[in-house]
Amino acid sequence: MPSGFDAEKIRADFPVLQQLVNGKPLVYLDNGATSQKPQAVIDEIVRYYTTENANVHRGVHTLSQNATEDYENARAKLRGLLNAADDHEIIYTSGTTQSINIVAQSYGRQNIGEGDEIIVSNMEHHSNIVPWQMLCEEKGAVLRVVPIDDAGELLMDEYERMLSPRTKLVSITHVSNALGTILPVEQVIELAHAQGVPVMLDGAQAVPHMAVDVRKLDCDFYVFSGHKLFGPTGTGVLYGKAELLDAMPPVQGGGEMIKSVTFEKTIYNDLPYKFEAGTPNIAGAVGLGAAVDYVQSIGYETFAAHEEELLEYGARALEQIGGVRIIGTSPRKAGILSFVMEDIHPHDIGTILDAEGIAVRTGHHCAQPVMQRFQIPATARASLAMYNTKEDIDALVRGIDRVIEVFS
Ligand SMILES: *Cc1c(COP(=O)(O)O)cnc(C)c1O
Repeated sequence: MPSGFDAEKIRADFPVLQQLVNGKPLVYLDNGATSQKPQAVIDEIVRYYTTENANVHRGVHTLSQNATEDYENARAKLRGLLNAADDHEIIYTSGTTQSINIVAQSYGRQNIGEGDEIIVSNMEHHSNIVPWQMLCEEKGAVLRVVPIDDAGELLMDEYERMLSPRTKLVSITHVSNALGTILPVEQVIELAHAQGVPVMLDGAQAVPHMAVDVRKLDCDFYVFSGHKLFGPTGTGVLYGKAELLDAMPPVQGGGEMIKSVTFEKTIYNDLPYKFEAGTPNIAGAVGLGAAVDYVQSIGYETFAAHEEELLEYGARALEQIGGVRIIGTSPRKAGILSFVMEDIHPHDIGTILDAEGIAVRTGHHCAQPVMQRFQIPATARASLAMYNTKEDIDALVRGIDRVIEVFS
């Protein structure tokens, strides 16, 4: 265990974990769907609504100024988190889904035409598939899919072959939500850039587990969800390089995104406001800022090492149970243990585990194509966060033993 890391101490920061579910202590292993919120985030949202609530960027009155300052301070924290060059490269969204849709509808509509190609992988979340299919349908463009191997790793030579002068964008996940695979994104970006092709990374499952440096990666767009990073639901980030975002048209019109409006001509606002039409989720942004503070106060290196140890511990434990098969066996994984059991449907696994107070996700995890790749309808997925412990894994193993008992 890395020095200074105390999972029990961290658990104490998360009030939701201090409860019984179905008469058993809650074992929360569904962090890939959404993570729990530390008291500091909850307190910050309460503080905001209790003392400060006002609209941003609009009033000269004190509350509005304070709200604006906190809203923009949170943006600066997110810039720091991703090591972006400038605050205005950070656009608030409602989550990864909205972030990707903005890129598809703005950058995509502007730059992708008939016969052009967009590359994704076989292990994308639906939100990094469907917006591109919609764009392809509209424009007559083509979606190309990089296949994966039996371990759940990207076939890099296939990817390299797929890149061509027709490729206009690569949009690929940083960490797979269904398998846990960490993709070799540095190489993906390098190969695309060698052909002048921009790259968007879906960081929804990466940012909660590893430090991300968008400048070091040199990715063109990076997106993630605040609610998977211990922040409030309805928050997310679209990072883009300023020169790309500057050239892109807005996708929603309204207040806040304009400099001036007449019936003859409207002048759009500068970044990032051009993409933030209407009253934003101010409390959400402020809460997300508190989540960033929380994560940084613990430090990625510290909790990533803890999670890696848990992941290995969990994989070893599951492998030893007869009839259990782990789906996604890449040596480079983060946070996720997906598995199936012989002759037992994942839904039944989930139901029995729930009766034991254990929360896992069962289903296709919004990634049906990856299920098709492994010729399974669904998996059970235990997904980790910094507050999980070996005791949680032990409880999962006992729960699976219980599943086997019920079905024998
Ligand atoms: C959760 C997730 C999404 C979608 O995020 P939302 O918060 O639902 O918008 C996209 N991609 C991956 C890899 C995810 O895990």
